[in-house]
Amino acid sequence: MNLHEYQGKELLSSFGVRIQRGIVAQSAKEAVDAAKQLTAETETGWHVIKAQVHAGGRGKGGGVKLAKNLKEVEEIAGQIIGMDLVTPQTSAEGKRVHQVLVAEDVYYPGESEPKEYYMSVLLNRATGRNMIVYSTEGGMDIETVAEETPELIHNEEIDPATGILPFQARRIAFNLGLSGAAFKEMTKFVTALYTAYDKSDASLFEINPVLKTSDSKIMAVDAKVTLDANALYRHRDLAALRDLREENQIEVEAGALGLNYVDLDGNVGCMVNGAGLAMATMDLIKQAGGEPANFLDVGGTADAARVEAAFKIILKDPAVKAILINIFGGIVRCDRVAQGVIDAYKNMGNITVPIIVRLQGTNADIAKELIDNSGLDVMSATEFQEAADKVQEVLNK
Ligand code: GDP
Ligand code: MN
Repeated sequence: MNLHEYQGKELLSSFGVRIQRGIVAQSAKEAVDAAKQLTAETETGWHVIKAQVHAGGRGKGGGVKLAKNLKEVEEIAGQIIGMDLVTPQTSAEGKRVHQVLVAEDVYYPGESEPKEYYMSVLLNRATGRNMIVYSTEGGMDIETVAEETPELIHNEEIDPATGILPFQARRIAFNLGLSGAAFKEMTKFVTALYTAYDKSDASLFEINPVLKTSDSKIMAVDAKVTLDANALYRHRDLAALRDLREENQIEVEAGALGLNYVDLDGNVGCMVNGAGLAMATMDLIKQAGGEPANFLDVGGTADAARVEAAFKIILKDPAVKAILINIFGGIVRCDRVAQGVIDAYKNMGNITVPIIVRLQGTNADIAKELIDNSGLDVMSATEFQEAADKVQEVLNK
């Protein structure tokens, strides 16, 4: 589960990580109030207005802007709220912005130039340990840094049993070229950051940039936080931060029905039981010259109600030109699935796309008979390849 920047920053702050302070606003007027509340404490009187959407690269898309006074805060917040923000990480249509973060300007002049760093915490699956990835090259695409100057990206592996040790925090501050007050600040920052990651059961923290201010404070200016959805049961407060508006609407509906559904770009809808079979089915569709429109695992109990729910979800995608149902009947008997398909088809009454059903396993022969004699526009297949050929056939029509 992803958090908004402002939620991520609040989480970090609660663990003692210094952040660029800000207040979230739902309207231009609220943005002005937020700025007034912050102004007394900002060094320059400037504010930065930041679109809150689940996508990075907002700066490049015009979703992060500086305002030098309250009038500009109002203007810029008014522009950004309600816009469809297009960034390198969104679709071409962009993401609708519902709220902005009004934050203090932390790039104020002083003894030294402000300097941006990159830092993330994530799981290294190969070693079963967490790692902190960091670089002196912050503020820009870390992918570009990794490609062009990989030697500027460092790794610190953390043993989850001990947590981050003081010498590791010092090594990070040293490799970032820090000294004096900034060095001490960085060791505190990275230690608190790791603790926050660990204690909140996160799967990714990406802070880009981490900023050294002109007076040597170290703080998080951005925060991309992904929490492990499987651990949310023990973090009720964090689970409540979910923003359904940021998620694919069909996926949200499918989730509420207990279906494992992932929306994809293709034209062949898939209804399958079991994740492995679902993956194999998607390969099959591709080989047949189609593109899967979705991944859908209906789970073990493919009864009429579930099949109908799955039909409804698949048909919400207007790109679907055919549906392939591929069910292995082990505990659930094929004839019951077949009856479920027929009942759902009749019940819905408005299915216009061709349907190919492949049922294998217990009572597969009875199931095929049921489908073939149903009088509906549903084709049956017994073999994998036969099903693929039928998909190709209907796509080429
Ligand atoms: P992203 O583009 O979605 O990654 O959003 P960020 O939160 O990283 O902001 C983009 C850029 O805006 C940062 O890399 C900074 O260079 C700039 N920025 C953010 N906060 C401030 C600020 O307080 N003052 C100034 N001058 N620039 C800022
Ligand atoms: Mn960023």
